[in-house]
Amino acid sequence: MCDYTSYIDKATEQFRQLLIEQLARQDKMEAGESAKDFGKMEKITVGVCGGDGIGPIIVKEAERLLRFLLADEIASGKVEIRQIEGLTIENRLALGKAIPDDTLAAIKACDVLLKGPTTTPKGGSMESANVALRRELDLYANVRPVSVPEKNIDWIFYRENTEGEYVLGSRGIEVPDKLAMDFKVTTKSGTRRIARAAFEYAKNNGKTNVAIVTKANIMKKTDGNFTAICHEVAAEYPGIEAEDWYIDIMTANLVNEAIRDRFQVFVLPNLYGDIITDEAAQIQGGVGTAGSANIGDRYAMFEAIHGSAPRMIEEGIGEYANPSSIFKAVEMMLRHIAMPVQADRLAKAMEICNETEKKVVVTGNRDGATCARFADYVMETVQKL
Ligand code: NAD
Repeated sequence: MCDYTSYIDKATEQFRQLLIEQLARQDKMEAGESAKDFGKMEKITVGVCGGDGIGPIIVKEAERLLRFLLADEIASGKVEIRQIEGLTIENRLALGKAIPDDTLAAIKACDVLLKGPTTTPKGGSMESANVALRRELDLYANVRPVSVPEKNIDWIFYRENTEGEYVLGSRGIEVPDKLAMDFKVTTKSGTRRIARAAFEYAKNNGKTNVAIVTKANIMKKTDGNFTAICHEVAAEYPGIEAEDWYIDIMTANLVNEAIRDRFQVFVLPNLYGDIITDEAAQIQGGVGTAGSANIGDRYAMFEAIHGSAPRMIEEGIGEYANPSSIFKAVEMMLRHIAMPVQADRLAKAMEICNETEKKVVVTGNRDGATCARFADYVMETVQKL
Protein backbone atom coordinates (compact mmCIF):
# COMPACT_ATOMS: atom_id res chain seq x y z
CA MET A 1 0.00 0.00 0.00
CA CYS A 2 1.26 3.51 -0.87
CA ASP A 3 2.19 5.99 1.81
CA TYR A 4 -0.13 8.97 1.36
CA THR A 5 0.96 10.78 4.51
CA SER A 6 2.47 13.79 2.72
CA TYR A 7 -0.67 14.23 0.53
CA ILE A 8 -2.94 13.95 3.56
CA ASP A 9 -0.88 16.47 5.52
CA LYS A 10 -0.87 18.92 2.61
CA ALA A 11 -4.61 18.47 2.00
CA THR A 12 -5.40 18.87 5.70
CA GLU A 13 -3.52 22.17 5.78
CA GLN A 14 -5.25 23.32 2.59
CA PHE A 15 -8.66 22.40 4.02
CA ARG A 16 -7.83 24.30 7.21
CA GLN A 17 -7.04 27.39 5.12
CA LEU A 18 -10.29 27.03 3.17
CA LEU A 19 -12.29 26.83 6.39
CA ILE A 20 -10.59 29.95 7.76
CA GLU A 21 -11.29 31.88 4.54
CA GLN A 22 -14.88 30.72 4.20
CA LEU A 23 -15.72 31.43 7.83
CA ALA A 24 -14.27 34.92 7.40
CA ARG A 25 -16.45 35.40 4.30
CA GLN A 26 -19.51 34.15 6.18
CA ASP A 27 -18.82 36.53 9.10
CA LYS A 28 -18.33 39.47 6.74
CA MET A 29 -21.71 38.73 5.14
CA GLU A 30 -23.35 38.36 8.55
CA ALA A 31 -22.08 41.79 9.54
CA GLY A 32 -23.32 43.21 6.21
CA GLU A 33 -26.37 45.29 5.62
CA SER A 34 -29.93 44.19 5.04
CA ALA A 35 -31.55 44.57 1.62
CA LYS A 36 -32.95 47.94 0.65
CA ASP A 37 -36.70 48.28 0.80
CA PHE A 38 -37.34 50.30 -2.34
CA GLY A 39 -41.03 50.60 -1.51
CA LYS A 40 -40.10 52.74 1.50
CA MET A 41 -37.34 54.84 -0.08
CA GLU A 42 -38.03 58.53 -0.63
CA LYS A 43 -35.67 58.76 -3.57
CA ILE A 44 -34.23 56.19 -5.96
CA THR A 45 -31.20 56.96 -8.12
CA VAL A 46 -30.87 55.03 -11.35
CA GLY A 47 -27.48 55.04 -13.09
CA VAL A 48 -27.53 54.55 -16.86
CA CYS A 49 -24.39 53.42 -18.61
CA GLY A 50 -24.05 52.91 -22.39
CA GLY A 51 -21.10 50.53 -22.55
CA ASP A 52 -19.57 49.67 -25.95
CA GLY A 53 -20.55 48.82 -29.52
CA ILE A 54 -24.35 48.82 -29.86
CA GLY A 55 -24.57 49.49 -26.10
CA PRO A 56 -25.00 53.29 -26.26
CA ILE A 57 -27.59 52.90 -29.07
CA ILE A 58 -29.87 50.46 -27.25
CA VAL A 59 -29.32 52.11 -23.84
CA LYS A 60 -30.34 55.50 -25.30
CA GLU A 61 -33.70 53.96 -26.25
CA ALA A 62 -33.97 52.12 -22.92
CA GLU A 63 -33.42 55.42 -21.10
CA ARG A 64 -36.05 57.14 -23.26
CA LEU A 65 -38.47 54.33 -22.39
CA LEU A 66 -37.61 54.56 -18.69
CA ARG A 67 -38.15 58.34 -18.66
CA PHE A 68 -41.49 57.81 -20.40
CA LEU A 69 -42.67 55.11 -17.96
CA LEU A 70 -41.46 57.02 -14.88
CA ALA A 71 -42.40 60.53 -16.03
CA ASP A 72 -44.44 61.20 -12.86
CA GLU A 73 -41.83 59.78 -10.48
CA ILE A 74 -39.04 61.79 -12.16
CA ALA A 75 -41.14 64.99 -12.07
CA SER A 76 -41.87 64.51 -8.37
CA GLY A 77 -38.19 63.83 -7.55
CA LYS A 78 -38.86 60.26 -6.42
CA VAL A 79 -36.59 58.94 -9.20
CA GLU A 80 -33.41 60.50 -10.55
CA ILE A 81 -31.70 59.16 -13.66
CA ARG A 82 -27.95 59.74 -13.86
CA GLN A 83 -25.55 59.21 -16.74
CA ILE A 84 -22.55 57.07 -15.83
CA GLU A 85 -19.57 57.82 -18.05
CA GLY A 86 -16.28 56.07 -18.56
CA LEU A 87 -17.14 52.38 -18.94
CA THR A 88 -16.09 52.35 -22.61
CA ILE A 89 -13.44 49.91 -23.76
CA GLU A 90 -11.24 52.84 -24.90
CA ASN A 91 -11.29 54.41 -21.44
CA ARG A 92 -10.85 51.09 -19.60
CA LEU A 93 -7.87 50.18 -21.80
CA ALA A 94 -6.31 53.66 -21.49
CA LEU A 95 -6.53 53.49 -17.69
CA GLY A 96 -5.73 49.76 -17.50
CA LYS A 97 -8.74 49.19 -15.22
CA ALA A 98 -11.80 46.94 -15.59
CA ILE A 99 -13.81 49.73 -13.94
CA PRO A 100 -12.14 53.16 -13.73
CA ASP A 101 -12.14 54.50 -10.14
CA ASP A 102 -14.33 57.54 -10.82
CA THR A 103 -16.81 55.39 -12.79
CA LEU A 104 -17.05 52.92 -9.91
CA ALA A 105 -17.57 55.80 -7.46
CA ALA A 106 -20.35 57.20 -9.67
CA ILE A 107 -22.01 53.73 -9.89
CA LYS A 108 -21.78 53.33 -6.11
CA ALA A 109 -23.55 56.68 -5.67
CA CYS A 110 -26.61 55.18 -7.42
CA ASP A 111 -29.06 52.54 -6.14
CA VAL A 112 -29.38 50.56 -9.35
CA LEU A 113 -27.56 50.43 -12.67
CA LEU A 114 -28.94 49.90 -16.17
CA LYS A 115 -25.91 48.85 -18.17
CA GLY A 116 -25.23 48.38 -21.85
CA PRO A 117 -22.97 45.51 -22.95
CA THR A 118 -19.27 46.04 -22.42
CA THR A 119 -16.57 44.62 -24.66
CA THR A 120 -13.97 42.36 -23.06
CA PRO A 121 -10.73 42.30 -25.08
CA LYS A 122 -9.55 38.85 -26.14
CA GLY A 123 -6.23 38.02 -24.46
CA GLY A 124 -4.33 40.50 -22.33
CA SER A 125 -4.99 40.84 -18.64
CA MET A 126 -8.03 43.16 -18.70
CA GLU A 127 -10.72 41.64 -16.49
CA SER A 128 -14.34 41.64 -17.71
CA ALA A 129 -16.19 44.74 -16.46
CA ASN A 130 -19.12 42.48 -15.50
CA VAL A 131 -17.06 40.13 -13.36
CA ALA A 132 -15.47 43.15 -11.66
CA LEU A 133 -18.87 44.80 -11.10
CA ARG A 134 -20.35 41.61 -9.57
CA ARG A 135 -17.47 41.47 -7.12
CA GLU A 136 -17.23 45.22 -6.35
CA LEU A 137 -20.99 45.56 -5.82
CA ASP A 138 -21.41 42.12 -4.18
CA LEU A 139 -24.17 41.11 -6.60
CA TYR A 140 -25.03 37.70 -5.17
CA ALA A 141 -28.32 36.91 -6.89
CA ASN A 142 -28.46 36.08 -10.56
CA VAL A 143 -32.05 36.56 -11.58
CA ARG A 144 -33.56 35.28 -14.81
CA PRO A 145 -37.23 35.51 -15.71
CA VAL A 146 -38.63 33.11 -18.32
CA SER A 147 -42.00 33.73 -19.86
CA VAL A 148 -44.01 31.92 -22.55
CA PRO A 149 -47.45 33.55 -22.32
CA GLU A 150 -49.18 31.20 -24.79
CA LYS A 151 -48.15 28.24 -22.62
CA ASN A 152 -48.99 30.05 -19.39
CA ILE A 153 -45.32 29.90 -18.28
CA ASP A 154 -44.24 32.75 -16.02
CA TRP A 155 -41.15 31.71 -14.06
CA ILE A 156 -38.39 33.59 -12.29
CA PHE A 157 -35.17 31.94 -11.11
CA TYR A 158 -33.10 33.21 -8.17
CA ARG A 159 -29.72 31.55 -8.58
CA GLU A 160 -27.18 32.00 -5.81
CA ASN A 161 -24.21 33.66 -7.49
CA THR A 162 -21.31 33.51 -5.03
CA GLU A 163 -21.05 30.09 -3.35
CA GLY A 164 -21.80 26.38 -3.93
CA GLU A 165 -19.33 24.56 -6.16
CA TYR A 166 -18.12 27.79 -7.77
CA VAL A 167 -16.42 29.64 -4.93
CA LEU A 168 -13.87 26.85 -4.40
CA GLY A 169 -13.98 25.36 -7.89
CA SER A 170 -10.28 25.89 -8.49
CA ARG A 171 -9.21 24.95 -4.95
CA GLY A 172 -9.76 21.19 -4.94
CA ILE A 173 -7.42 18.43 -3.81
CA GLU A 174 -5.79 15.82 -5.98
CA VAL A 175 -3.69 12.78 -5.31
CA PRO A 176 -2.31 12.19 -8.82
CA ASP A 177 -3.60 9.05 -10.51
CA LYS A 178 -5.58 8.15 -7.41
CA LEU A 179 -8.21 10.63 -6.33
CA ALA A 180 -9.64 14.11 -6.87
CA MET A 181 -11.87 16.04 -4.50
CA ASP A 182 -13.62 19.40 -4.93
CA PHE A 183 -15.40 21.42 -2.30
CA LYS A 184 -18.85 22.90 -2.17
CA VAL A 185 -19.73 25.50 0.43
CA THR A 186 -23.05 26.82 1.70
CA THR A 187 -23.05 29.56 4.33
CA LYS A 188 -25.91 30.63 6.51
CA SER A 189 -25.63 34.29 5.48
CA GLY A 190 -25.07 33.47 1.80
CA THR A 191 -28.22 31.34 1.74
CA ARG A 192 -30.32 33.74 3.81
CA ARG A 193 -29.66 36.59 1.42
CA ILE A 194 -30.58 34.68 -1.76
CA ALA A 195 -33.68 33.24 -0.05
CA ARG A 196 -34.69 36.70 1.12
CA ALA A 197 -34.25 38.09 -2.40
CA ALA A 198 -36.55 35.37 -3.81
CA PHE A 199 -39.23 35.78 -1.13
CA GLU A 200 -39.11 39.59 -1.33
CA TYR A 201 -39.66 39.32 -5.06
CA ALA A 202 -42.61 36.99 -4.45
CA LYS A 203 -44.09 39.35 -1.86
CA ASN A 204 -43.67 42.47 -4.00
CA ASN A 205 -45.08 40.86 -7.12
CA GLY A 206 -48.11 38.98 -5.86
CA LYS A 207 -46.55 35.51 -6.17
CA THR A 208 -47.76 32.80 -3.82
CA ASN A 209 -45.29 29.95 -4.31
CA VAL A 210 -41.50 29.59 -4.11
CA ALA A 211 -39.86 26.31 -5.15
CA ILE A 212 -36.65 25.54 -3.21
CA VAL A 213 -34.66 23.30 -5.56
CA THR A 214 -31.72 21.26 -4.26
CA LYS A 215 -30.39 17.71 -4.03
CA ALA A 216 -30.69 17.69 -0.24
CA ASN A 217 -31.35 13.95 -0.16
CA ILE A 218 -27.75 13.41 -1.31
CA MET A 219 -25.84 16.61 -0.43
CA LYS A 220 -27.08 16.51 3.12
CA LYS A 221 -24.92 19.21 4.66
CA THR A 222 -24.73 21.91 1.98
CA ASP A 223 -28.09 21.44 0.24
CA GLY A 224 -29.69 20.27 3.48
CA ASN A 225 -28.73 23.57 5.10
CA PHE A 226 -29.73 25.55 2.02
CA THR A 227 -33.22 24.06 2.25
CA ALA A 228 -33.51 24.54 6.01
CA ILE A 229 -32.36 28.17 5.85
CA CYS A 230 -34.77 28.91 2.97
CA HIS A 231 -37.60 27.59 5.17
CA GLU A 232 -36.47 29.81 8.06
CA VAL A 233 -36.73 32.79 5.73
CA ALA A 234 -40.05 31.52 4.32
CA ALA A 235 -41.53 31.59 7.82
CA GLU A 236 -41.27 35.39 7.67
CA TYR A 237 -43.50 35.48 4.58
CA PRO A 238 -46.97 34.24 5.50
CA GLY A 239 -49.15 33.63 2.46
CA ILE A 240 -46.22 32.45 0.33
CA GLU A 241 -45.93 28.69 0.12
CA ALA A 242 -42.37 27.25 0.17
CA GLU A 243 -42.09 23.87 -1.55
CA ASP A 244 -39.08 21.51 -1.59
CA TRP A 245 -38.09 19.94 -4.88
CA TYR A 246 -35.10 17.92 -6.01
CA ILE A 247 -33.19 19.23 -9.01
CA ASP A 248 -33.53 15.98 -10.99
CA ILE A 249 -37.32 15.92 -10.94
CA MET A 250 -37.46 19.70 -11.42
CA THR A 251 -35.53 19.44 -14.70
CA ALA A 252 -38.22 16.96 -15.78
CA ASN A 253 -41.03 19.18 -14.45
CA LEU A 254 -39.97 22.07 -16.68
CA VAL A 255 -40.71 19.99 -19.77
CA ASN A 256 -43.84 18.41 -18.27
CA GLU A 257 -46.71 20.42 -19.77
CA ALA A 258 -49.15 18.96 -17.27
CA ILE A 259 -47.59 20.73 -14.28
CA ARG A 260 -44.97 23.26 -15.33
CA ASP A 261 -47.30 26.25 -15.41
CA ARG A 262 -47.93 25.99 -11.65
CA PHE A 263 -44.37 27.11 -10.80
CA GLN A 264 -43.71 30.78 -10.11
CA VAL A 265 -40.47 31.58 -8.26
CA PHE A 266 -37.46 29.26 -7.92
CA VAL A 267 -34.55 29.60 -5.50
CA LEU A 268 -31.50 27.45 -6.11
CA PRO A 269 -27.85 26.96 -5.22
CA ASN A 270 -25.36 28.13 -7.81
CA LEU A 271 -24.71 25.01 -9.94
CA TYR A 272 -28.32 23.83 -10.22
CA GLY A 273 -29.32 27.41 -11.03
CA ASP A 274 -26.69 27.65 -13.74
CA ILE A 275 -27.95 24.50 -15.45
CA ILE A 276 -31.70 24.81 -15.07
CA THR A 277 -31.86 28.46 -16.19
CA ASP A 278 -30.41 27.47 -19.56
CA GLU A 279 -33.01 24.70 -19.84
CA ALA A 280 -35.74 27.21 -18.97
CA ALA A 281 -34.41 29.81 -21.44
CA GLN A 282 -34.42 27.16 -24.16
CA ILE A 283 -38.11 26.51 -23.45
CA GLN A 284 -38.66 30.24 -23.97
CA GLY A 285 -36.97 30.19 -27.36
CA GLY A 286 -33.21 30.11 -26.77
CA VAL A 287 -30.60 31.40 -24.37
CA GLY A 288 -30.48 34.66 -26.31
CA THR A 289 -34.07 35.51 -25.42
CA ALA A 290 -33.75 35.80 -21.64
CA GLY A 291 -32.98 38.94 -19.65
CA SER A 292 -30.69 38.91 -16.65
CA ALA A 293 -30.14 40.85 -13.46
CA ASN A 294 -27.39 40.71 -10.86
CA ILE A 295 -28.66 41.75 -7.48
CA GLY A 296 -27.03 42.50 -4.14
CA ASP A 297 -28.32 44.03 -0.91
CA ARG A 298 -27.03 47.46 -1.67
CA TYR A 299 -26.75 47.52 -5.45
CA ALA A 300 -28.29 45.84 -8.46
CA MET A 301 -27.33 45.77 -12.11
CA PHE A 302 -29.68 45.14 -15.04
CA GLU A 303 -28.59 44.45 -18.58
CA ALA A 304 -29.24 42.81 -21.92
CA ILE A 305 -27.86 39.31 -22.01
CA HIS A 306 -26.18 39.75 -25.40
CA GLY A 307 -22.84 41.43 -25.99
CA SER A 308 -21.73 44.65 -27.70
CA ALA A 309 -22.14 43.25 -31.26
CA PRO A 310 -19.01 44.99 -32.63
CA ARG A 311 -19.64 43.67 -36.14
CA MET A 312 -22.94 45.57 -36.35
CA ILE A 313 -21.01 48.76 -35.65
CA GLU A 314 -18.31 47.88 -38.23
CA GLU A 315 -21.03 47.26 -40.81
CA GLY A 316 -22.77 50.54 -39.95
CA ILE A 317 -26.02 48.86 -38.87
CA GLY A 318 -25.83 49.58 -35.13
CA GLU A 319 -29.07 51.58 -35.22
CA TYR A 320 -30.89 48.42 -36.35
CA ALA A 321 -29.96 46.54 -33.14
CA ASN A 322 -32.84 44.91 -31.30
CA PRO A 323 -33.50 46.64 -27.97
CA SER A 324 -35.87 43.88 -26.66
CA SER A 325 -33.35 42.34 -24.28
CA ILE A 326 -32.42 45.67 -22.65
CA PHE A 327 -36.14 46.56 -22.48
CA LYS A 328 -36.62 43.29 -20.57
CA ALA A 329 -33.84 44.53 -18.26
CA VAL A 330 -35.79 47.78 -17.77
CA GLU A 331 -38.87 45.75 -16.80
CA MET A 332 -36.81 43.74 -14.28
CA MET A 333 -35.35 46.93 -12.84
CA LEU A 334 -38.82 48.44 -12.39
CA ARG A 335 -39.94 45.35 -10.46
CA HIS A 336 -36.80 45.48 -8.33
CA ILE A 337 -37.39 49.11 -7.34
CA ALA A 338 -40.96 48.22 -6.31
CA MET A 339 -42.71 49.71 -9.33
CA PRO A 340 -44.67 46.62 -10.47
CA VAL A 341 -47.46 48.61 -12.14
CA GLN A 342 -45.05 50.30 -14.56
CA ALA A 343 -43.24 46.98 -15.06
CA ASP A 344 -46.52 45.23 -15.90
CA ARG A 345 -47.43 47.93 -18.44
CA LEU A 346 -44.07 47.49 -20.15
CA ALA A 347 -44.35 43.67 -20.10
CA LYS A 348 -47.83 43.84 -21.63
CA ALA A 349 -46.69 46.26 -24.35
CA MET A 350 -43.66 44.07 -25.17
CA GLU A 351 -45.91 41.04 -25.50
CA ILE A 352 -48.15 42.93 -27.94
CA CYS A 353 -45.21 44.35 -29.93
CA ASN A 354 -43.15 41.14 -30.12
CA GLU A 355 -45.76 38.35 -29.99
CA THR A 356 -49.23 39.35 -31.11
CA GLU A 357 -49.47 42.59 -33.10
CA LYS A 358 -45.90 42.83 -34.51
CA LYS A 359 -46.52 46.05 -36.50
CA VAL A 360 -42.86 47.09 -36.22
CA VAL A 361 -40.30 44.32 -36.51
CA VAL A 362 -36.58 44.60 -35.72
CA THR A 363 -34.42 42.11 -37.61
CA GLY A 364 -30.96 43.36 -36.66
CA ASN A 365 -30.46 44.48 -40.26
CA ARG A 366 -31.49 47.21 -42.73
CA ASP A 367 -34.56 45.19 -43.79
CA GLY A 368 -36.02 45.72 -40.33
CA ALA A 369 -37.02 48.70 -38.20
CA THR A 370 -34.49 50.76 -36.27
CA CYS A 371 -34.06 50.46 -32.56
CA ALA A 372 -35.52 53.98 -32.14
CA ARG A 373 -38.62 53.19 -34.23
CA PHE A 374 -39.26 50.05 -32.19
CA ALA A 375 -38.91 52.05 -28.97
CA ASP A 376 -41.52 54.53 -30.30
CA TYR A 377 -43.81 51.58 -31.09
CA VAL A 378 -43.45 50.18 -27.56
CA MET A 379 -44.22 53.58 -26.02
CA GLU A 380 -47.22 54.12 -28.33
CA THR A 381 -48.46 50.67 -27.26
CA VAL A 382 -48.00 51.46 -23.56
CA GLN A 383 -50.03 54.64 -24.08
CA LYS A 384 -52.93 52.65 -25.55
CA LEU A 385 -53.13 50.19 -22.63
P1 NAD B 1 -22.74 39.39 -29.08
O1 NAD B 1 -23.91 39.07 -28.23
O2 NAD B 1 -22.26 40.79 -29.05
O3 NAD B 1 -23.08 39.00 -30.60
C1 NAD B 1 -23.54 37.72 -30.97
C2 NAD B 1 -24.39 37.84 -32.25
O4 NAD B 1 -25.64 38.41 -31.91
C3 NAD B 1 -23.78 38.76 -33.31
O5 NAD B 1 -24.11 38.26 -34.57
C4 NAD B 1 -24.48 40.08 -33.07
O6 NAD B 1 -24.51 40.90 -34.23
C5 NAD B 1 -25.86 39.62 -32.65
N1 NAD B 1 -26.51 40.56 -31.73
C6 NAD B 1 -26.17 40.82 -30.44
N2 NAD B 1 -27.00 41.72 -29.91
C7 NAD B 1 -27.88 42.04 -30.87
C8 NAD B 1 -29.00 42.91 -30.90
N3 NAD B 1 -29.36 43.64 -29.84
N4 NAD B 1 -29.70 43.02 -32.04
C9 NAD B 1 -29.36 42.28 -33.11
N5 NAD B 1 -28.32 41.43 -33.14
C10 NAD B 1 -27.59 41.31 -32.03
O7 NAD B 1 -21.59 38.36 -28.68
P2 NAD B 1 -20.04 38.36 -28.97
O8 NAD B 1 -19.78 38.77 -30.39
O9 NAD B 1 -19.57 37.06 -28.50
O10 NAD B 1 -19.44 39.45 -28.00
C11 NAD B 1 -19.06 40.77 -28.39
C12 NAD B 1 -18.46 41.47 -27.18
O11 NAD B 1 -19.44 41.63 -26.16
C13 NAD B 1 -17.30 40.71 -26.53
O12 NAD B 1 -16.28 41.61 -26.19
C14 NAD B 1 -17.91 40.09 -25.28
O13 NAD B 1 -16.97 39.93 -24.27
C15 NAD B 1 -18.93 41.16 -24.90
N6 NAD B 1 -20.06 40.65 -24.09
C16 NAD B 1 -20.51 41.47 -23.11
C17 NAD B 1 -21.60 41.08 -22.32
C18 NAD B 1 -22.08 42.01 -21.24
O14 NAD B 1 -21.57 43.09 -21.10
N7 NAD B 1 -23.06 41.60 -20.46
C19 NAD B 1 -22.25 39.86 -22.58
C20 NAD B 1 -21.79 39.05 -23.61
C21 NAD B 1 -20.69 39.47 -24.37
